[in-house]
Amino acid sequence: MAQGVVVAGAGQAGFQVATSLRTEGFQGSITLIGDEPELPYNRPPLSKGFLTGKEGEDDLPFRPASYFEQHRIDMRMGARVTALRRTEHEVVLASGEAIAYDFLVLATGARVRSITREPIGGLLYLRTSEDARRIKALMAGADSMIAIGAGFIGLEAAAAASKVGKRVTVVAVEDRPMGRVVSPLISEHFRLLHERHGVRLMLGDAVERVEAGVRVTLKSGVVLEAPLVVAGIGVIPNVELAEASGLAIGNGILVDQYLRTSDEAIFSIGDCASVEGHGRLESIQAAVDQARCVAATIVGKLRAYSAVPWFWTEQFESKLQIAGIPSGCAHFVRRGDSVYGFRRDGTLGAVESINKPVEHIQARKLLETKVPVTAEQAADSGFDWKGLLPRRVS
Ligand code: FAD
Repeated sequence: MAQGVVVAGAGQAGFQVATSLRTEGFQGSITLIGDEPELPYNRPPLSKGFLTGKEGEDDLPFRPASYFEQHRIDMRMGARVTALRRTEHEVVLASGEAIAYDFLVLATGARVRSITREPIGGLLYLRTSEDARRIKALMAGADSMIAIGAGFIGLEAAAAASKVGKRVTVVAVEDRPMGRVVSPLISEHFRLLHERHGVRLMLGDAVERVEAGVRVTLKSGVVLEAPLVVAGIGVIPNVELAEASGLAIGNGILVDQYLRTSDEAIFSIGDCASVEGHGRLESIQAAVDQARCVAATIVGKLRAYSAVPWFWTEQFESKLQIAGIPSGCAHFVRRGDSVYGFRRDGTLGAVESINKPVEHIQARKLLETKVPVTAEQAADSGFDWKGLLPRRVS
C-alpha cells in the first residue's frame, strides 16, 4: 500500500479525498496543501445564505482543526504548490520546500474568468470566502447591484441581493436564465421567478465595457450604473501545474475513468479534471464522488467514476435539483413542475425538479439503473415509477 499521499488543492475535492482515504483505512501520511489561508470550507452558501445572513462564518468550514489532527491529515494552508517534479515524485511549494509522494492528487479547482484586465473598485467576482465577504460588505452600503451573467452564480447572487432589499439588474449575453445548462422550460420558470421578485433581467445583450463607477455599457448602447457589480461569467480550470509538468491537458487535466492522469502516480479530480466519458463537471457531487473513487483506488479497490451527476441551485423560494445533463437532451416533457429530458436516441438523459426532493432521488435511481422510460410515461403524472425500478439499486 502507498506510504504517502499528497493532495494539491484543499477545496471540496481535496478535503474529500483526504477524508475518504482515512475512511477507507489508509494508514500512510496524508498532506493536504491549499493556497487559501483558511481550513477547507463549503462554497455553495457563498452565493446564497451567506450573502443574506442566513448562514454565517461558522457554517462554512467542513471540519474544525481538531478533526485534521485526529485523522492525521497534515494541513498546509496558505501554501501554494508551484511545481511538480514527476521523476523525483515531489511537489515544490512557493517556500521552496519539497514534499515527496507515492500518489499525488491534483484538486486545484478553477478560478473566475474576469471581465477587465485591471481590477475596478466595485466590480467583484465570487469564488472564495474572501470574495463573498467583500461582496457582502459592499452590498450592505449599496442600494443596487448589477449581476453580469445569468448562470448559477450571477442569478444566485442576484436573488440574494434582492432578498436583502437591493434593486437588482441581471445582464447577460445568454438569452435565457442558465441557458447553457437547463431546459428552456426551467429557464422560463426562473425568468418569471426573478421578475416576480422585481429583478430586472436584460438578457441577450453582451457587456461591451465595464468602467469605474461602476458603469456597465452593453452592446445595445444601454448604460447601467451601480455601486456593486458581481460578475459570474464562468471559470477557468487550474491546469497550469499539470501542464508545466507535461501531463495531458484538454478542457481540464485529462483523466481516465479511474481519475488517473497520463502519469499513473497522479490523479486529478473536481473542477480541474476532465474525465473520460464525462468531461469537466463543476459540481459538489462530482468532486465528492470522484474523490471517493480515488481514495478507494489508492487503497487497492480500483473504482471507476460512473456516477450520475447531479446539481442544485437555490434562488428565492425555488430549489432546482438536476439529475443528469439537460444540455445533452434533444427534447423535454413536463411532469407537474418537473422536466424530463430525452436524448436523441430516446433514452432518459436528465430530470430537473423544483422543490421536489423525493422526485429528484427517484430520478437519480431511474438514471442510475437506466431502466427504459418513455416520454409518454414521463408526461403522465399518474404513472408510478416504482414498478419500473428494481427493488435495490446497487
Ligand atoms: P475548489 O473548491 O475550487 O478547490 C480548489 C482549491 O485548490 C482552492 O482552494 C484553490 O485555491 C486551491 N489551489 C489551486 N491551485 C493551487 C496550488 N497550486 N497550490 C495549492 N492550492 C491550490 N456546486 C453545486 O453542486 N451546488 C451549488 O449550489 C454550488 N454553489 C456554488 C457557489 C459558489 C459561490 C461557487 C464558487 C461554487 C459553487 N458550486 C456549487 C460549485 C462547487 O463549489 C465546485 O464544483 C467545487 O467547489 C469544486 O471543488 P474543487 O475542490 O474541485 O475546487
